[in-house]
Amino acid sequence: MKIVIIGTGYVGLVTGVSFAVNNHLVICVGRNNEKIKRINQGYSPFFEPGLDELLAKLIKNKLLKATNELEGSIKESDVTVIAVGTPTVGNNIDLSQINQAAMQIGGALKKVRKYHVVVIKSTVIPGTSENVVKQIIEKYSGKKAGKDFGLCMNPEFLREGNALEDALNPDRIVIGQIDARSGKEFAKIYASHKNTPIIFTNLKTAEMTKYASNALFATLISFSNEIARISEAAGSIDVLDVWKGVHLDRRLSPVYGETRIKPGILNYILSGCGYGGSCFPKDTKALAHFIDELGIDAEVIKSVIAVNATQPLRLVALLKNAIGENLKGKKIAILGLAFKPNTDDSRESPAFAVIKSLLSVGAEITCHDPAVYKEKAPEILFDLPIILAKTIEEAIVDADGVILVTAWKEYANLTPGFFKKHMRHPIIIDGRRIFAKKTFIKAGITYRGIGLS
Ligand code: NAD
Repeated sequence: MKIVIIGTGYVGLVTGVSFAVNNHLVICVGRNNEKIKRINQGYSPFFEPGLDELLAKLIKNKLLKATNELEGSIKESDVTVIAVGTPTVGNNIDLSQINQAAMQIGGALKKVRKYHVVVIKSTVIPGTSENVVKQIIEKYSGKKAGKDFGLCMNPEFLREGNALEDALNPDRIVIGQIDARSGKEFAKIYASHKNTPIIFTNLKTAEMTKYASNALFATLISFSNEIARISEAAGSIDVLDVWKGVHLDRRLSPVYGETRIKPGILNYILSGCGYGGSCFPKDTKALAHFIDELGIDAEVIKSVIAVNATQPLRLVALLKNAIGENLKGKKIAILGLAFKPNTDDSRESPAFAVIKSLLSVGAEITCHDPAVYKEKAPEILFDLPIILAKTIEEAIVDADGVILVTAWKEYANLTPGFFKKHMRHPIIIDGRRIFAKKTFIKAGITYRGIGLS
């Protein structure tokens, strides 16, 4: 099939690549000419393991190309997928990119004679595909959804850092459809995924499935962080041991014969310094706003957001516990800016709350991240008086304390000796509990960690 993807961010580009791998002809439409040029040279504008190699191959084989020309691209295609951003403004979802894309599609469809399916892949609040996207496209095209063109909502479940694998081998495919023909035509894209369950729903159910999925994971994280807080306050509890005891429940890690399965869900039932990234924070906020609009009694999601907002500050509290209340002039190294390992995405990273809090009390901050280095530093850091170190040594040299925010493998392999050699005072606050507590303490490190009394 010939497919247009609007948006060349994480979802747009990875989805485009996954379709092209299955021999569809993909045109990725972006707005930034520099990025378009780089994509056409086989380079992804963001880091995602394995993506550059595959992209270069697909470009060479003419299965994928990037352009800024939407109208002509739509005219020669069967399906247009909307994969633009849906950030938050205030606490509500910002649909401006969706609105603009829908207007452009409507304008282009006006001149298209054959049947064309429009698919919303961006995460949008239930009702958006029907009440916003459909209305705009109909207005600008003069055509009727479900008759002259198809409309589907196909939520994306990929995880950054594992995006390619997730898009190439999805667990399930959810297709919300305005009518059976739309879903049937669009599902042809996934024809090669013979063993992947496809769930056909209405548009709203598909939209809600994505929010339910993200809200579930965010809830598990905030729940785990609340257990950590209780453990810290109660005394003589290590939350890591608590989770070991919880995880071994066969309902969470089933035993088949001699083998115990460790499902991925267990990674969310662990205490840390909070969730970040481009999805959980904005999606939980958008859902909370939707709850208010509906005027219903629903408190869990709001508590999840509240716990997450203060969790990074637990790291500052633990630092003060180790150093003392006065952090003025103390040199603190932050290890990790990405919201999780294996990505250069630092959107809504817990690191920023920690940095801002420390700066407000006069600490001097040096940061390191293996993927978020100078050229890729997010705007939020531009105006802050911090140093971005190139190496871990440079970040921790003469430091009075280290706060570990992101569980990169590079950090997990660091030894107590390394910290003692370079730091002024070997104080480590482990926001992800990746260091061996006993070894570090035995080696003379002042060690504090989330969920450790
Ligand atoms: P992103 O911000 O990285 O990328 C969106 C891109 O769309 C941007 O590059 C923007 O310039 C471009 N764009 C916007 N309007 C455009 C237009 N009219 N024409 C051409 N390009 C346009 O966002 P993302 O992380 O790829 O997420 C996209 C959507 O998918 C969001 O709704 C998000 O919630 C959802 N989602 C994201 C992930 C993830 O892990 N990033 C996972 C699942 C779902």
